[in-house]
Amino acid sequence: MGDHFQVIVDVQASQQEADALAADVRGWLISSGVVSAERTDCVPSTDLGYPPGPRADAVVDLSGWSVPWQDGLDITTGRTVFDAGQGEPMAVTCPYCSVTIDLVDEDFDLSYEAWEPFREVVHGWGEGRDVIIPCPACSRPVEPTSWKWAEDYFVLAHLGFTFWNWPPLRQEFVAEFTRRLADHRTALLEGKL
Ligand SMILES: [Zn+2]
Repeated sequence: MGDHFQVIVDVQASQQEADALAADVRGWLISSGVVSAERTDCVPSTDLGYPPGPRADAVVDLSGWSVPWQDGLDITTGRTVFDAGQGEPMAVTCPYCSVTIDLVDEDFDLSYEAWEPFREVVHGWGEGRDVIIPCPACSRPVEPTSWKWAEDYFVLAHLGFTFWNWPPLRQEFVAEFTRRLADHRTALLEGKL
């Protein structure tokens, strides 16, 4: 069985804001018992994460799940391409003209021609470069973080909270989480490795 994850991504936090917001939210999650303060080897993505705390079950929908679960939370700061892990990016939408550009052909294979400029945008972000390309429809230059990926296949951001193998996070919890992130726009990604 693979690992699945839910990531709450702060879409708006700048590089400068990310560390302070991460610390605030980490403090809140620990003090409310959602995760425990002492990091352990509990996440597949990196060496150490925060294991589920004594009140973790209050923030998830346990229907159909057996408790307890073991895996924890990984907090990522700094330029990151958050992605859903499987399949292909299907489409991307321009923030200005709202035209959606299909990135796959009729067989759902990635269309090389359509994807090529966006591949640069995504890989550039991961490598520390802002690749600004014109929208294929309206020609306006678009910042890398402004493209809207279908089903949030990618989110290019500076701050994300990855819950590994947790039951579905409750909506109220995600809403409170968003408030704690200075009411920034957030995306909830779900995926599998
Ligand atoms: Zn456009």
